[in-house]
Parts: sequence; C-alpha cells; structure tokens
Amino acid sequence: MATAPKNLSEPLLQLYRINAGSCNGCDVELATTATVASFDVERIGCSYTESPAEADIVLVTGPLTVRVREKVLRAYGEVPEPKITVAVGVCPISGGVFRDSYAVDGPVDRYLPVDVNVPGCPPRPQAILAGIEEAVLLWRARRDGVLPPPVASQPHPEKGAVSTGVRGKMDFNPAACVGCRMCEHVCAGGAIRFNEEFTGLRFTLWHNSCVFCGLCRHYCPTGALTVTDEWQLAHRQDQKYHLTTQGIMPYAPCSGCGELLLPVAPELLRVAFRGTGREIDRLKSLCTECRQKQSIGGRRR
Ligand code: SF4
Ligand code: SF4
Repeated sequence: MATAPKNLSEPLLQLYRINAGSCNGCDVELATTATVASFDVERIGCSYTESPAEADIVLVTGPLTVRVREKVLRAYGEVPEPKITVAVGVCPISGGVFRDSYAVDGPVDRYLPVDVNVPGCPPRPQAILAGIEEAVLLWRARRDGVLPPPVASQPHPEKGAVSTGVRGKMDFNPAACVGCRMCEHVCAGGAIRFNEEFTGLRFTLWHNSCVFCGLCRHYCPTGALTVTDEWQLAHRQDQKYHLTTQGIMPYAPCSGCGELLLPVAPELLRVAFRGTGREIDRLKSLCTECRQKQSIGGRRR
C-alpha cells in the first residue's frame, strides 16, 4: 500500500463517518484515530468533520441495514465531489457475519461507489490509517484528473510495532487438508467455499468476509489452517474479489476401480494413525466402495 506523505502545502482533507448499522466495533477503532496521538489522522493530512457538506473522504461502517439505508444515502449525497469512499470493516465490504440477514441490504457497494476497503472485524487502527492514506492518494489523483499512483506491495511500516498475538488473515496448507469441509461448515463469516473441479477439490477463503474468529483453525482436525499476524489488508476496490487464499487438493485414481478420489493427507495419517504401514498404504489408495468390498471379501475368506 502506498503512503501519502503529509503535504504542508495541501489543506487537511476532511473525513466524514457514516454508520450504516454497525455494531460500533469499527466505530470504536475509528475513534482511536481521532483521539489517540500515535494513530492521529492529522499525521497523514486529515481531520474529522461533523458536516457531510465539508467532507472529502467518507468512512462507512456497518453492513447497510434496511432501517438506515435511506438516511445513509441522503448523507452520502450531501458530500460534494470529488469524494472517496472507504468501507471500514468486513460488514460494509461483504456483510460479514450479517450477510444473510433479512435486516441487511448491503454490501455497501450495491448502492455507493466504494474506492477503498479495509477488512477486519474490526480492523486495527493502523490498517484503517493505511486505508485512509490510500484514499488521500486517490482523492488527490481524482481532483487533479490524473491516474492514481500504483499500489505498492510493501507491508505497512508500523507492522512490526504491533504486539504479538494479534490475529490476522488465515493461511491454508493444502498438503494437510483432507477435504472434510468442517471449516466451511463452522465459518462464522461464510468466508470459506469448496468447489469440486475436474482435477481436484478447490479451497477458497475470501478475506473480505473473514472476521478472524479462528473457528476454522479450532475445528480443523489436521492443522491445515493457521492464523497469521498479517492484519494490514487495506486495498482498492478493484482488488475486492482477488483478496483470497486458495489451494487445490488433487484427485488420484482408486487403485481398485480407477474412480477419482481425494487422497488421504499425510497429516491425517500422522494425526489419526500415528504413521503408516503396508495395510494403511493399501487401504488409503482405495475409494470407499472398493474398501468396503475388500473388507467384506477379506472377512469371508
Ligand atoms: S477465521 Fe476462519 S472461521 Fe472465522 S471467519 Fe475467518 S475463515 Fe471463517
Ligand atoms: S482445512 Fe481442515 S477443516 Fe477444512 S476441509 Fe481441510 S482438513 Fe477439513
């Protein structure tokens, strides 16, 4: 993410907050960017305003509930052009844990043109600052009628300053996955999906819907999912659906009938059988049906 240096010749850009039905978690983190000196938005050339008519950058929190939708759209309409919109937290980006609720009409980009997304539940103040820095660069480019500068891929400079134990995006190891799909079942944010493809089973985790709850890691029997401390995930809107972790578990033919099956992951053999042996090696290359047939045949003999 590129950094917007404070430019003393530029006036402070005005930030305006819109709560689109948030639980207030992200609003508390936003409040720290106004009140805690080390996260102060003035360091990056911004300040908060209470008036939409004075605003340059709009920060939206919450999944956009049916109840507040019209008020949100009215307030947004009062912000003059050029304006840049930042979705703060997974709720305005994807709906987060509320995405299937009857009371939610979001995500916010169904109704408003979002420019920058800052995922997290809630995102850390440093990640919000990185998103606002990106918004400042986009606002200046839009005002000057030039192309926005490219996104730099270096980590946020303050990453090392965050205490250990902070939860960030999940990581996935396809070599350890047995395709039980427990993670998909328990995922609080509906962030995990499996697709059966021609060559294998594809795992996809969309970070714009993940709330860093860690349930998938907790229930994964083989440790295929791990929590990282990579919390700085602010990105431009054109990257919204690219912010994924993917992996494919390739199918192999059953040694009995040739039907394609998902091979047993070495990690499961280690955890469940404490290693391997000739009999396990033979059984693991068979599909369920061939295994049953051979077991019955074996017993008859
Ligand atoms: S941490 Fe895992 S279970 Fe929780 S929302 Fe993210 S992907 Fe889903
Ligand atoms: S990641 Fe873990 S819980 Fe999810 S399908 Fe693979 S083994 Fe099962």
